[in-house]
Amino acid sequence: MKRQDTLYQLVDKLETEQKLNKKEWIQLIDGRTSQLADYLFEKAVRIRKQYYDNKIYIRGLIEVSNICRNDCYYCGIRRSNRNANRYHLTRGEILACCREGYELGFRSFVLQGGEDPYFSDSIVVQIVSAIKGMYPDCAVTLSLGEKSRESYQAYFNAGADRYLLRHETADPAHYRKLHPSELSLKNRMRCLWDLKEIGYQTGSGFMVGSPGQTSACLAEDMIFLKELEPQMVGIGPFIPHHDTPLAKEAVGTAELTVFMLGLLRLMLPSVLLPATTALGTIDEMGREKGILAGANVVMPNLSPQDVRKKYELYDNKLCTGSEAAEYKRQLQEQMEAIGYTIVTDRGDYVPLPSREDKSRKKYPKYNKRSKEYGVIGT
Ligand code: SF4
Repeated sequence: MKRQDTLYQLVDKLETEQKLNKKEWIQLIDGRTSQLADYLFEKAVRIRKQYYDNKIYIRGLIEVSNICRNDCYYCGIRRSNRNANRYHLTRGEILACCREGYELGFRSFVLQGGEDPYFSDSIVVQIVSAIKGMYPDCAVTLSLGEKSRESYQAYFNAGADRYLLRHETADPAHYRKLHPSELSLKNRMRCLWDLKEIGYQTGSGFMVGSPGQTSACLAEDMIFLKELEPQMVGIGPFIPHHDTPLAKEAVGTAELTVFMLGLLRLMLPSVLLPATTALGTIDEMGREKGILAGANVVMPNLSPQDVRKKYELYDNKLCTGSEAAEYKRQLQEQMEAIGYTIVTDRGDYVPLPSREDKSRKKYPKYNKRSKEYGVIGT
């Protein structure tokens, strides 16, 4: 059998069985061609339409703080970057962003920031409660990093619906190349399983093309995500930031990023899958390419204009400077040009009908891979 035929059969297998083994993932990623990508994307778009039709969900992104106690090697707002111009938004400023977004029709807000001590549990709870009190028809997503289970529970009890926490890499050796010793993959995994167990719509994800990443690392990412079954997956190309230890590393490619988006759509058919800002940053048609590979979410920036540039995780971050209303209009036009329509409702995850029982499964205290990571009981 020809190698090419094998690759097409692997795509078919992924569509049917929604999983591959490590060797198959590596084979598929290493052997990809533009023809194979077209074959994959045609399936990915068809599957995405089964669940979400031509709808592209928009989430209002509010970058609440660029202060972070952590020092991830790839991140422009790491604590060691003395050149970062630090800020955090007050509760009043965050609520003002929500008010503006609500008036524009947004019904889903994402509060994202570094691990900033200012955002204590009680402040986060107050902010979430205030947003849910004022806008009960909106979904609130938090993306505030690694916390204790008790903290996550408190935010959930206050009304938070979703939590985003990218795992970044599921390969322990690769993780060590990207993070200082005080951070651990074990804790990150613990956080993700806690979030799922508490009942959040949970998002994870990874960078594509990060330094030291191999196709075996990407295979590990896919295997981990299959096990976690998150409701959202955010992936974007690695883009170096000039004030980090990884400043001189090569940028990830849009081509591999969109290929991975297509694979994710086949593996997790109804997942909420953003076409990320990072993808739009390295390729001016990146967002559109992401949608045409199976993505179904975009996250316009509702942060005050004067802080958008300060929240610089990587260089040249796409930052239109437009007012939120103008930005929304531009997105509408971009999506309509490729046959899609943006919708501003909550855009909740659609569970797979056959997975209902699985959603009540015991999360992975006892499963094999989590034991490998030593997540529980070590
Ligand atoms: S990646 Fe997140 S946790 Fe790491 S330094 Fe940046 S903001 Fe902090």
